[in-house]
Amino acid sequence: MLAGGEVTPSLVLLDRDGTINEPAAADRYVADPESARLLPGAAAAIRRLNAAGVPVVVVTNQRGVATGELSSSQLDRVNSAITARLAEGGARLDGWYVCPHEVGACDCRKPLPGLLARALADRPGLEPADCVVVGDAESDVLAGRAIGIRGVLLHPDVATTTAAVSVQRNLADAVQWLLGPDDDTVTDW
Ligand SMILES: [Mg+2]
Ligand SMILES: [Zn+2]
Repeated sequence: MLAGGEVTPSLVLLDRDGTINEPAAADRYVADPESARLLPGAAAAIRRLNAAGVPVVVVTNQRGVATGELSSSQLDRVNSAITARLAEGGARLDGWYVCPHEVGACDCRKPLPGLLARALADRPGLEPADCVVVGDAESDVLAGRAIGIRGVLLHPDVATTTAAVSVQRNLADAVQWLLGPDDDTVTDW
């Protein structure tokens, strides 16, 4: 198993809700752009990936579109709000991959790997083994594992049982694990 910090990933795929932004209540979806709030440290973590030259894309299940909890234009506005808040923090996303489908209706609702496979197909030459998926649900990890992408699970209990190669408490810790200690924080004293 690769330890973190040994090899800079070729691509990082991030879950959205609970990874980049505060999730809605269980089994609900963020429908209001005003309620799309970034999690602490998320913008800085993505900014660090940007600075390291690592492409960062989002892979997100948004079944609420299929159930009518939110419209696709609402979803677009929420995604735009997240993009704008990240930009305020100096962070950039390089792509969005969204599953708006009902359970069992597609090949892309995580834990199925369709979204991740599309992200790789859009970037020819990348090896799945050089990519990493980061998310707060085991379905994120399993979607990666299905096509040979390593997973980092975000979970408050780092001893939790998972197929992930690492468990970290939040995106900032996950990026530190992936890239190693931030030189800026070491020298900026
Ligand atoms: Mg999530
Ligand atoms: Zn889908």
